Amino acid sequence: MLGEPRADRIVIVGASLAGLRAAETLRAEGFTGSLTLIGDETHPPYDRPPLSKQVLLGKVAADRTGLPQRRRLDADWRLGVRAGGLDPVGKRVLLDDGADVPFDRLLIATGTRARPWPHPDEAALDGVFTLRTSGDAAALAARLDAGPRRVLVIGAGFTGSEIASACRERGLEVTVAERGPAPLVGALGGTLGELAAKLQRAHGVDLRCGVTVTALEGDGRLTGAQFSDGTRIDADIAVIALGAVRNTEWLAESGLAAGPRGVTCDAGCRAFDMYGIVTDDIFAAGDVARFPHPLFEYQLLSLEHWGNAVAQAEVAAHNMVSPGPRRRPHLTVPAFWSSQFGLNIKSVGVPTFSDQVVIAQGSLKDARLVAVYGYRGRVTAAVSVNQARSLDYYRHLIETAAPFPPAPGAADQRESPVPVPSDVPDPKLLSHGPTVALTGHLPDRRLTVVQPAR
Ligand SMILES: Cc1cc2nc3c(=O)[nH]c(=O)nc-3n(C[C@H](O)[C@H](O)[C@H](O)COP(=O)(O)OP(=O)(O)OC[C@H]3O[C@@H](n4cnc5c(N)ncnc54)[C@H](O)[C@@H]3O)c2cc1C
Repeated sequence: MLGEPRADRIVIVGASLAGLRAAETLRAEGFTGSLTLIGDETHPPYDRPPLSKQVLLGKVAADRTGLPQRRRLDADWRLGVRAGGLDPVGKRVLLDDGADVPFDRLLIATGTRARPWPHPDEAALDGVFTLRTSGDAAALAARLDAGPRRVLVIGAGFTGSEIASACRERGLEVTVAERGPAPLVGALGGTLGELAAKLQRAHGVDLRCGVTVTALEGDGRLTGAQFSDGTRIDADIAVIALGAVRNTEWLAESGLAAGPRGVTCDAGCRAFDMYGIVTDDIFAAGDVARFPHPLFEYQLLSLEHWGNAVAQAEVAAHNMVSPGPRRRPHLTVPAFWSSQFGLNIKSVGVPTFSDQVVIAQGSLKDARLVAVYGYRGRVTAAVSVNQARSLDYYRHLIETAAPFPPAPGAADQRESPVPVPSDVPDPKLLSHGPTVALTGHLPDRRLTVVQPAR
């Protein structure tokens, strides 16, 4: 039953995976009050993982990835309208169409968007794409159908690598440009990065690491690109896969701890204000949330994982309608998957929270393995490549802070495997700044006063 004060009106901003799952959970928990979902996309909630996989391969149409609604929501859907501001004192969400939506409890689930190419003139060239929405996927798939001569993928993280994989599977020529030493290094470190590089090249990708794209060329239409090593290529499609930007700008005047790294919240999904005081009626979940996790030294994690969006939304929804003692922490071990170049990659834990890695099962040579990551002598993550069956076992090791390297018997190698440095990038060198950072407003904004309705 509801705690005090009563929450008769719940508003969710962000009508995608986390928003939908939270709405379903609220109803499942017996919430009978008014429920409003606000989303700036015009589509009902849909799934994004297929966009860079089946949709780009032409196996599934971009408008066929809708998320099933698992129960009657009896909700007021406000789609195609952006929330432009939040007044936490008056408890209203301010919409760009001029409307105010009052709430008793609010869930922020505004996720992320694709980081744009930094030069607007070049980004506007015909043939330059990003991939985040179903509209992006439909447009890119249509251009791939037309048989471009060469696709340039800028950035070899998970999304960029999956796009390159889909293009090669279609038989298209692909160049991948990556600033780091190998694909996936930012997420998985050096050992699996090297494997990914080998596999991309074996699949015919023109992989260029340690370079940046300095210019996209064209006159109205993209014709090619220049690289920092002085080389250039002809290309008629470029996909910018430079990661994601958190959708927090609409909260700039709200007084919440919301910034480029997300909305900071506690383990119960309650948002912090900019002074670090936890709010009691504003919650956050999904890609936009930034939260402490005891397994990772209470560092604030910003995750872009489907499974996290679901689990955190369920905890947030439960806590929104539960009195204090019945609230639950969001303690799920992070997990994600990716498929690319014939590899089924699955991860549990946080591979970047590591100093060493060991191949505990299988081998790099066979591209069938489990890599286990450790930090200061305990297991913090495991990544399987075409061998997902034992991941639950490693999840248990992570949850129980088991010693690293895993004890003999935990691995199927005849000899004890030898850990090597995990070579995850120093977060301080990434463009996003250090992993543990103060979020929210700059010091000169300490005295920001919450704006009344515009
Ligand atoms: C191409 C692609 C492939 C992926 N593949 C995988 C995968 O293989 N495995 C995996 O674990 N994860 C994958 N992901 C990540 C996964 O899809 C995300 O973790 C998930 O979508 C997060 O859900 P969310 O609801 O938190 O955020 P989002 O899905 O980003 O939804 C946020 C919603 O809020 C809307 N919004 C933003 N600002 C406002 C505003 N001010 N007012 C109103 N509405 C607003 C947005 O338009 C969007 O509809 C992939 C993502 C992409 C893009």
